[in-house]
Amino acid sequence: MKLDEALDLIAEVPDFPEPGVLFRDLSPLFADGPGFAAVADALAETLDPASTLVAGVEARGFLLAAAVGYSRGMGVVLVRKPGKLPSVAGRVDYSLEYGTASVELPANVVKPGQRIAIMDDVLATGGTVAATAKLLEDAGATVTGVSVVLELAALHGRSALDGRTVHTLRTV
Ligand code: 5GP
Repeated sequence: MKLDEALDLIAEVPDFPEPGVLFRDLSPLFADGPGFAAVADALAETLDPASTLVAGVEARGFLLAAAVGYSRGMGVVLVRKPGKLPSVAGRVDYSLEYGTASVELPANVVKPGQRIAIMDDVLATGGTVAATAKLLEDAGATVTGVSVVLELAALHGRSALDGRTVHTLRTV
């Protein structure tokens, strides 16, 4: 399947999770074999060849990182929401529009000097990816780039990731 056709499978859901927000739902894309493969292949193409690991942000980022890691013979780092890991190497808290969120890194996974590419489904304000990059860098890794399926341009996530290489399959 062509990449554009695959990306057209993403649904738009008005007023979720709150009134006025247009949520992009990747579920139909993940459920389509050729569509998912087209997107995973396109994300894999964005990888900096110096990368040694792929990090996925819970939960949809896990699917993308797993597909890319498998296709390139690379391992995957699971960046998790709080309270899921038995042993935590690090945690970064960050602000959301309302309230705060956190990401955590499992212990004994990331070693200093590793070069890690970050994958997620949607880049909105950039807070989640910025926190993920800090988490990995605090552990001594280098972030080689950020790859997302969709970038929501109106939320200026790229500015929050100033200086980082950001690859987007589609900007809306
Ligand atoms: P940010 O931290 O960039 O504001 O938000 C990005 C995070 O929130 C990502 O992990 C992403 O999964 C989720 N997110 C924000 N908006 C959307 C959306 O419209 N659709 C989906 N699927 N996820 C979103």
